[in-house]
Amino acid sequence: MDDIALCVAVIELDERKSLIVTACNDTFFQLMGGAVADTQAFPIPFDALIAHSASREFREKLLACFACAGPQKAETHEFREGRQWWRLSLKPVGHANDGPSVRKILVTGFDMAAKNNRILEPEVNASRYRALVELAYDAIVTMDEQHNITLFNRAAENLFGYSSAEVLGQPVVTLLPEKFRAGHARKVQQFADSYQPVLRQATPPRMDESNSVYGQHRDGSVIPVEIAVSRIEFDGGAEFMAVVRDVTDRAQLMKLLKKQAATDALTGLPNRREFRKFVENALTTRDALSVFILDIDFFKEINDRHGHDVGDEVLRVLAKVGASMTDDGPGLFARWGGEEFVAAMPGADAELAHRIADRLRQRFEQQDFEHDWNAEPIPFTVSIGVVTRAVDEVDVDPLMKRADRALYRAKKSGRNRVEVG
Ligand code: GH3
Ligand code: MG
Ligand code: MG
Repeated sequence: MDDIALCVAVIELDERKSLIVTACNDTFFQLMGGAVADTQAFPIPFDALIAHSASREFREKLLACFACAGPQKAETHEFREGRQWWRLSLKPVGHANDGPSVRKILVTGFDMAAKNNRILEPEVNASRYRALVELAYDAIVTMDEQHNITLFNRAAENLFGYSSAEVLGQPVVTLLPEKFRAGHARKVQQFADSYQPVLRQATPPRMDESNSVYGQHRDGSVIPVEIAVSRIEFDGGAEFMAVVRDVTDRAQLMKLLKKQAATDALTGLPNRREFRKFVENALTTRDALSVFILDIDFFKEINDRHGHDVGDEVLRVLAKVGASMTDDGPGLFARWGGEEFVAAMPGADAELAHRIADRLRQRFEQQDFEHDWNAEPIPFTVSIGVVTRAVDEVDVDPLMKRADRALYRAKKSGRNRVEVG
């Protein structure tokens, strides 16, 4: 009996009219939720064997079956309880000689839940995954080994502006900006070569860690994206799956933060750090380079007489005029701090640098610039210290120190002057 996949049991009534199981196979024990009992122990009381509350219904059917007079046909009943779901057939056998009443019932049946799970599982999984892919917040695109698109979810449709029908079968490079198309196949190959399929990696491997991956919308606009790629292998083939996230907001924020980190908030000029970077970089070449430091004369008095806001306005005016000096050249005009400004003039020797600096000094002295002052024009002058690099000079600090000393001399010798150090 134990070799039968179905459950089988013989149930009788004892002399007290209680249900007893006089024989059954292991499948019956398991189906009824009990452990496999010692078969020597038959008969086993029905209530001891069947743990489920569904047994009440089962027991009623059995009793009804015993109560029926005359030969009976097998009756099939389904019993459900929680995740349990069995279909049992109750067949009266062995009528007593002395009457029509039923003596034994042969129970056969099987586990419907298990049967249905087996049938439904792949289907449930498939529709579950389809829904997951379709409803995913991120764009999901898969491509075959020829790099043609094989799946394009709804988020991908929104991100790239194509319908799935339009791009299925198309080369995946359709979704890339022109300049990345040529290198894409090689990138995928590199990724495929380095890809180690590890079960449940903490994070899927990113194809490019550099935050500079771009997609292209149907309308031609470029979209900064983050992309996680996996290789999916199946019978005789492989696909790549890319989960693509639009990081436009993040990219814009990064750009803004980068700009803020390099910019002086009051004047919008490059700040000291940015200026140092610029000069450091220029000093890596052997090209001519001059720098100057400019300091407003008696700026404290301007603040004291007109207020701090007017002082700020003077700084902004000065910044605008100074920056215009490098508008079409390779130079950089920056705020060094307070009321001190600096300029780097690549290619300028000492003489040219002095001329540029003095021209700027004169423009301030003569108010030779356009500006709508908020209240009234504020006259001011500046002092400037200019230096030129030595050919083998590579450090920023000694250069700036020399410029500062030249500035100090300009102040000492009366202000509103340019001194070369
Ligand atoms: P000198 O001709 O010797 O350079 O005299 P000075 O008054 O310009 O020099 P000092 O260094 O004594 O004063 C600089 C002043 O610049 C002091 C400070 O309050 C002012 N200052 C620094 N940064 C700012 C700013 O962002 N806004 C305003 N309004 N004032 C500033
Ligand atoms: Mg100063
Ligand atoms: Mg000053």
